[in-house]
Amino acid sequence: MEEIRIRGRAVSRGIAIGPARPMAGAEQAVAAAKIKKKAIPDEQQRFLQAVRHCAAWLRARIEESTGQRADILVTHLAMVEDPYLEQLVLRHIEEERDNAENALMRAVETIAGRLAALPDEVFRQRADDLYDEGRRLLRCLRQGDIAGEEMASGTGALVLARQIPPSSAALMDGETVWGLATEFGTATSHTAILARGLGIPAVVGAQGMMAGVREGDMVIIDGLRGEVVLRPGKKALQDAEDSRRHFLQQQKLLQKLAGLPAQTTDGHTVALLANIGLAGECEGALARGAEGVGLFRTEFLYMETGQPPGEERQYTAYTAAARRMQGRPLTVRTVDAGADKPLPGYVMPVEDNPALGLRGVRLSLADPQFFKIQLRAVLRTATLGNVRLMYPMVSQVEELDACDALLRECAQELQQEGLGPVAIPPQGIMIETPAAVWTAETLAKKAEFFSIGTNDLTQYILAVDRGNPNMQYLYNHCHPAVLWAISHVVQAAHAKGRRVAVCGEMAADPKAALLLVGLGVDELSMGADSILGVKQAIRGVSYKKAQALAQKALAAESATKVEALLRDEGLSHK
Ligand code: PEP
Ligand code: MG
Repeated sequence: MEEIRIRGRAVSRGIAIGPARPMAGAEQAVAAAKIKKKAIPDEQQRFLQAVRHCAAWLRARIEESTGQRADILVTHLAMVEDPYLEQLVLRHIEEERDNAENALMRAVETIAGRLAALPDEVFRQRADDLYDEGRRLLRCLRQGDIAGEEMASGTGALVLARQIPPSSAALMDGETVWGLATEFGTATSHTAILARGLGIPAVVGAQGMMAGVREGDMVIIDGLRGEVVLRPGKKALQDAEDSRRHFLQQQKLLQKLAGLPAQTTDGHTVALLANIGLAGECEGALARGAEGVGLFRTEFLYMETGQPPGEERQYTAYTAAARRMQGRPLTVRTVDAGADKPLPGYVMPVEDNPALGLRGVRLSLADPQFFKIQLRAVLRTATLGNVRLMYPMVSQVEELDACDALLRECAQELQQEGLGPVAIPPQGIMIETPAAVWTAETLAKKAEFFSIGTNDLTQYILAVDRGNPNMQYLYNHCHPAVLWAISHVVQAAHAKGRRVAVCGEMAADPKAALLLVGLGVDELSMGADSILGVKQAIRGVSYKKAQALAQKALAAESATKVEALLRDEGLSHK
């Protein structure tokens, strides 16, 4: 059969070449079945038994796992034991007289449907996770056990699937799985995060691929270009081998930088930290020389189940990250919900303009009891590690005052409950609104550090929706207006002796990162797989040159001109 090329999206860098192992879809239709009234208690017990069985199976897998694999399985355990799911299933059995299988699938549909309808990729991924667990529970209900759950492994192969459930991905390793390609999925899906952590090249969104592949076919997964080649011809194979060799050589060279400082040729040093969403990403970050976590996006935790996590669940997640970072800073950002990230199981007002509405710290402060759960968990973690607390979407100093007051109230409560002396961790804010930029002098009196969220700052300064595909031509963090804002924030912070980080995507772009260095930013925080590339760029210039470049960029007329400037200097930001 002839060679077939399918475009997709590269989500984990590298090139894999080898035999295909297609994964069959696990979905099976559930025949509608109703039960008699007297069978309700038995049917409910049958469901509860399946939950216990599945949970025990997952716990056993967690025991034998570490890192990301363990974290993902913990997330899945929380889904299986979600009290909201249980409540819905038991209610369907009782009120609708559904058998346990139907009640389960209807409940999963309800919760996952709500998640899938939300605009944010992270929620859609949570819906996939939930379907995945629903299927596992279903198999358990039908068979009474879940034997044979593990991915068939054998020797190395490239796994191709419509979709790889994260719990299956969590059981993979780089020795038996050389590459991953799926027809669906996103860059922020657990499976993609896991592939990056394991260094497995991966492509998602390769639609139509499954129709053309057979077990054992030779396949190329190009995680650099975002392409899957089925049954490559001689030339395609040779090209893939060449770029694979080149990529590995580059990686080897870059890896040598892991232990070196991000220092310019004239001795100016910048700290490089990692952005994480799961505690299990810490190992990968440390391996790439991350000096700490500059942004722990806690939203992931809030999306595990149909309900926000309690204090214990949060404490477990934060301490897991703190332990892994071994005394390096761990910056926990309080939940940044609202706008395009509503919280499952948490009722929020319907707003005409949610991006300008109750989001980030505004939402947290609107519900102090809810907010305090997170603050208590962070305070308890701070007794064990080098924790920093960061508030998103701040637009006035009173918000910081209110956060500080609540934090101190929590510390007092914990002390009264017998935790012993509770230290208040450093409190910083994200600079994401023009209001925060232009009142940075005032904010710097109280906030102990700043972290500029260029993703949101760009959207609010340019009045361009960051998620609107029609607006991408205008959405550009190199716009001089954004650069001026950053410059102002750095000066205001430094005047008060505060450090400034950037944790938006701009920091992960090696060329734009040089502008940030030139503007005087002290720390850059980014996805771990960008750290070494950014470090290489920083080590290749003098601070003097970066500063001159930044000054030229500030004086440029437009984002296009800034891009041209980076190009002329042999630097292109895209
Ligand atoms: C940002 O806005 O730059 C940021 C880091 O936060 P998020 O992308 O999570 O909104
Ligand atoms: Mg943001």
